[in-house]
Formats: sequence, structure tokens, C-alpha cells
Amino acid sequence: MKNLARLRSFIQDMTRLAERHGADEQRMLDECEKLLRGLIAQDDWLPEEFAGPSPEGYRQYLLHCDPMERFSVVSFVWMPGQKTPIHDHTVWGLVGVMRGEETCEEYSQELKATGRHPVRRGQVDRVSPRIGDIHVVSNDGNEVAVSIHVYGANIGAVRRHTYDPATGAPRAFVSGYANTTVPNLWDRSARP
Ligand code: FE
Repeated sequence: MKNLARLRSFIQDMTRLAERHGADEQRMLDECEKLLRGLIAQDDWLPEEFAGPSPEGYRQYLLHCDPMERFSVVSFVWMPGQKTPIHDHTVWGLVGVMRGEETCEEYSQELKATGRHPVRRGQVDRVSPRIGDIHVVSNDGNEVAVSIHVYGANIGAVRRHTYDPATGAPRAFVSGYANTTVPNLWDRSARP
């Protein structure tokens, strides 16, 4: 039995945060990072169906979207060797690694590669148009990687961009989600 109460209280805390500080990106990043570190510190709550890898490519599963679309919580699942295209987000976002390890390659607004760094289990990475929004995320390890992401919008519905690595040409995309149902946070009859 997965401890969904952890996700439920994370979402409650995030909702309070969005109400109080939703317009203050820096504050949202700082406070949300603390909450996200707590959420990923204990890997006992993510239901299997939102942690399943696919040989066809990395998967993004919506775990929760705020009713006012002020934030969304998504699980990303990568098999070894899988990677994203070069892409942007257009809103703030946090990436917290819960299983395995990921590699983040950063790009400038002019599409110059500016560095790469590992994001290890328990660590949280940041993106936003203000602090650097374009990157590639990959799983260079040899086990499945799972990260929990929080964005300042319903990220699967945001019109954003991938970039051609050779020419830098942007291409509009809307990512959507791999799942059609979300975790049921509200059946409190089963208490772990
Ligand atoms: Fe990203």
C-alpha cells in the first residue's frame, strides 16, 4: 500500500503556497523546493502506474493539477539512455530526483550549450525564463530514473518549444501527459 498521504499533504501545502505567494516566483521556487525535498526524501508514496517506464521514450504522468492551473505536479520516468529534446518551459519549474540519477545540459537563450551537471537522488534543480529555461534532461545511468517535477502552470497544456540542435530553430509543442487518470488522493479508508 502506497503512502498517498504524503502526496496529499504536499499538494495541500503547495495550494496554500500558491494562494499566498503565487505571484512571487522567487518565493515559490524557494518554498516549493523545501516541500519537494521533503516529498522525494521518502520513496514510498508514488503508485506503480505513475512510475512505469516505456521503451518508446521517457514518460510524464500528471499527479495533480491545481484547479486554477497555478501549479502542476508530474512524475517523469526515464529508462537508461532516454533523453528529452532541447526544450523550454516558459514558467518556473523544479525537478526533484527520487530514483536513479539524471543529467541536465543547460542552454542559453541563444542556444549555446553552457554546461551540464548531474542531479542526484534527493537533489532539486530549477528552471524559469528568469534564471535559465532551456535544457536537455537525460538518464545516463543504468537504472530507471524517476523525478518529481512541479511547474508554475498546467505544464502539459502550456504551448512551449523544442529547439533543433543543428539550427536552433524553435518548434512549438504542447507536451500533454501519458496518463488519462490521476491518483485518487481522497479515499482515506486505507491508512498505511
Ligand atoms: Fe525540462
